[in-house]
Amino acid sequence: MNTLTASATAAAAVAANPSPPGASVSSPEAIRLDRVSKSYRLPNGTSFEAVKNVSLAVPQGDIFGLIGTSGAGKSTLLRLINRLEHPDAGRVFVGGREITALGKQELRVARQSMGMIFQQFNLLQNATVFDNVAFPLRIHGQASPGDVFRRVRECLDLVGLLDKIDSHPAQLSGGQKQRVAIARALAPRPDVLLCDEPTSALDSETTRSVLDTLRDVNQRLGVTVLIVTHELAVVRALCRTVAVMDGGEVAEQFAVDDTGPGRERRVTALGRELARMAVYADVQNDLERLDAALA
Ligand code: ADP
Repeated sequence: MNTLTASATAAAAVAANPSPPGASVSSPEAIRLDRVSKSYRLPNGTSFEAVKNVSLAVPQGDIFGLIGTSGAGKSTLLRLINRLEHPDAGRVFVGGREITALGKQELRVARQSMGMIFQQFNLLQNATVFDNVAFPLRIHGQASPGDVFRRVRECLDLVGLLDKIDSHPAQLSGGQKQRVAIARALAPRPDVLLCDEPTSALDSETTRSVLDTLRDVNQRLGVTVLIVTHELAVVRALCRTVAVMDGGEVAEQFAVDDTGPGRERRVTALGRELARMAVYADVQNDLERLDAALA
């Protein structure tokens, strides 16, 4: 079963057979949303439904893109997963555990399994790279200084920035700052990385280094990556599966490289554009193979 079929089947199963409230289910899904909705109250007294009855399944180990036009509800959906926002309705599962059923203390512990990467890096400017990466380990207070030292070095090594351990953020490029943020997110050994427009503040060269790092983290550690982006090139370069959000709903979901007949049924402009890019990449590969054969 390919990733898309697995996701679609899982999402259908969610809709058909919701689990009892508070349940902890064992599943091959890293993240599962079950009919999740979120409204905001506006200053004029009306309310605005930013996320509408969304069901979604992200398989373990996937790199899953969430795209859509500005205001489609992507960031809200991401914040509902680690409960920076609480849904009005529906349930969220991470690693089979119902996040929406957790109390404050349990949520604090559960959040260690969800690393978060932000567009603006969110590093502590007055702290060294070492102290930034050590931060999540120290606030949870369970690691000894020796453990913290070893884990920080391990994570910086993984993102290729061990030589910057004593630098301050102001001494780093944008791409390096984002890689420090990735090291910080990895320090508590999360199962999933939630990335909100991680490359939108970067130029194309540094974007590439951040995407390489995320791919490497996914392959070497098996960490599931969910990435919100408005850049289709990022989806093409990194993601295996993508969901397109439109007006607070998931309009469609498919495998990024799918050039089969399903691509003709794409319902969104972004979905059709990704289909066109996948076909173009296929043709390009064929031409390169032909060139190599004739050389
Ligand atoms: P996206 O990430 O796709 O650009 P968002 O999830 O940030 O979209 O926002 C979806 C919609 O919800 C937007 O119209 C936005 O203005 C609205 N929204 C988001 N957060 C709030 C909030 N705290 N209060 C009121 N409206 C909000």
